[in-house]
Amino acid sequence: MSLTSAPSEQSSTKLTLRLFRDGDNTWKRWQDKIQEADASYKCPTYIQSAPPCQGSCPAGEDIRGWLNIVRGIEKPPLGPDGKPSMPWQEYAWRRLTECNPFPAIMGRVCPAPCQGSCNRNQVEDHVGINSVEQFLGNYAIEHGLGFAKPQLESGKRIAIVGGGVSGLSAAYQLRKRGHTCTIFEAYSRLGGMLSFGLPDYRTTQDVVQAEIKRITDMGGIEVKLNTRVGKDVSMDALRAQYDAVFVGIGAQGGTRLDVPGADAPNCIDALSMLRAYNEGTLKDVGDNVVVIGGGNTAMDAAAVAARIGNKGQKQAKIVIAYRRTVAEMPADQHEKDAVVSAGVEMAPLLIPVSVVKDAHGKATALRVARVKWVNKKMQLIEGTEYDIAANLIVSAVGQFIQWEGLDGIKNPKDKANVDSALQVPGQPGVFVGGDAINPDLLTTAIGHARIAAEGIDAYVSGKAVDKRPKVDKCLFNLPRDLAKRGVKIETVAEPLRGTCDSKAAIHNFDDRSDRYTIPAEALFLGHFAYTARNQRAFRPVDAEHVLGDHAEHSWEALTAAQAQAEAKRCMSCGLCFECDNCVMYCPQGAVARVPKKQASIGRYVETDYAKCIGCHICRDVCPTGYIQMGLGE
Ligand SMILES: Cc1cc2nc3c(=O)[nH]c(=O)nc-3n(C[C@H](O)[C@H](O)[C@H](O)COP(=O)(O)OP(=O)(O)OC[C@H]3O[C@@H](n4cnc5c(N)ncnc54)[C@H](O)[C@@H]3O)c2cc1C
Ligand code: SF4
Ligand code: SF4
Repeated sequence: MSLTSAPSEQSSTKLTLRLFRDGDNTWKRWQDKIQEADASYKCPTYIQSAPPCQGSCPAGEDIRGWLNIVRGIEKPPLGPDGKPSMPWQEYAWRRLTECNPFPAIMGRVCPAPCQGSCNRNQVEDHVGINSVEQFLGNYAIEHGLGFAKPQLESGKRIAIVGGGVSGLSAAYQLRKRGHTCTIFEAYSRLGGMLSFGLPDYRTTQDVVQAEIKRITDMGGIEVKLNTRVGKDVSMDALRAQYDAVFVGIGAQGGTRLDVPGADAPNCIDALSMLRAYNEGTLKDVGDNVVVIGGGNTAMDAAAVAARIGNKGQKQAKIVIAYRRTVAEMPADQHEKDAVVSAGVEMAPLLIPVSVVKDAHGKATALRVARVKWVNKKMQLIEGTEYDIAANLIVSAVGQFIQWEGLDGIKNPKDKANVDSALQVPGQPGVFVGGDAINPDLLTTAIGHARIAAEGIDAYVSGKAVDKRPKVDKCLFNLPRDLAKRGVKIETVAEPLRGTCDSKAAIHNFDDRSDRYTIPAEALFLGHFAYTARNQRAFRPVDAEHVLGDHAEHSWEALTAAQAQAEAKRCMSCGLCFECDNCVMYCPQGAVARVPKKQASIGRYVETDYAKCIGCHICRDVCPTGYIQMGLGE
């Protein structure tokens, strides 16, 4: 499992790249040669693609869309009084939460794979997506924003097993579609790992509970706490009483150490330790703690131990033992840096050999041995064994899914057996999401829940549960946007060829975003000047002050002006962002703005094909890769 908590805020200083370098004058593809002359038979088409940030966001957020709202390209719709119906912050938050109902939490603890894939990395540095997400999430909490109630009730009832982030996201997506839900949660609180896994100082319970309450406030969501499915109520009963079932039970078991002596009472797994911390029952870790593992759960366990120490009075000596090097630890760099600055010692290239116990059976030390790696194989170095003193030994080496009472769902690898729509084969109407499929990230669980909810919606409506698209995200829908603005699209009536006047379909537009993610090479990067990222501040905790510091220790949110400045760095990959380059540079004056009343996002310019000579200049100067030469064949 690779868990990380927050992306690096370190800024890159790479120089801006250009689409063409000096001397670049040969075309790589024969199709491009066609356009080499000053005129070709191909005219511009407008092709919507998925941006790579969205392609890499497991929750599937329309990141480009909400950044375009924050920067002011897409404005909130006007109300009956002719004024914006809501502030831009709310409009952007509503777009974001179509996919992800937890932006304030994700803006704090998501490792942001979206940022690693952002095309802006090829200019100088990624867009601070995660920080703008945090800004919007905070805004919504501060302004008490709620989700709309469904306009129609379907009369269908869905059972949700597990009230973690996957179960709650499923409830949110199903409620939007008018289905009522009952969440069965084994614990005394909703939230799953958000309530009893992630330590409070990473994202406070105020933030967690505010985002959960907003979902339950939608109405039509019944919550049964302290109710374990498989024990207090059977899966068969749920199948019989509900129209469909979503299973989001997570991976609640912490893997214990498998060495002699590991049955000592003070030898525990990290999940139990973190649960005790979050419940307020862990008050003392003694003077010496050894944590085994190199993932973020290990970092969380060590960071918690540093805060608690010996009864909160004296700092404990904490060692993280790991079988590979520190650089190879799967934990996020930021998390590693944080524990080191809090005084935790990293002990790489070690494996546990046994637990040393006293006469009462309590662990007093962890016996370890040094290892080396030869041809990717670990070799124990004989004679290197030594003891690390420990009052508490914490194993953070993995998680497993607790399937008791939920027969027929798991595969031989003890993970959920699901098809691409996340439905259990042979069990129509039973869908699974989150860590029960494979322990991963919060954003992954949120994405699973949306996909499963769409499958459940189809299933209870008597429709086929479709195969999923290649790019399975909350994609921008141009026809829906045009309809929202009152622009009519007439029904397609053949033949269509040979006219740009027809209002049937959207002329010269193609949406390929469900199958094509646009790479940086398809953009005109020379359009974008070097602009440093607007960075969030981070409050570090040092070894001197970590003891007893349980306050939120997260990123400081951007201001509204900083969030807007950061959103302006987005290059809107794969969708027009209204720069006017094509209008300005077309030598024929063939490209013009669409009249305001007919326009929408992505329908900002149009080409007069009587004037276009197919010179492809508009394509070359389009920064976003939205224009491709295609029409006319
Ligand atoms: C210590 C730790 C730190 C993490 N840090 C991060 C991070 O910084 N960023 C990140 O993105 N991810 C992080 N993760 C991963 C993230 O927490 C999980 O991927 C996510 O919580 C999975 O959501 P879920 O809903 O599938 O499962 P969970 O959050 O585990 O929720 C499952 C819920 O189901 C309930 N349940 C289980 N069995 C039953 C049953 N039979 N009947 C009824 N209810 C049941 C459980 O009580 C629980 O409430 C971390 C995980 C851990 C353990
Ligand atoms: S949920 Fe994570 S991956 Fe998705 S947009 Fe937010 S930070 Fe990026
Ligand atoms: S520049 Fe904008 S649209 Fe492109 S990948 Fe980055 S955040 Fe996404």
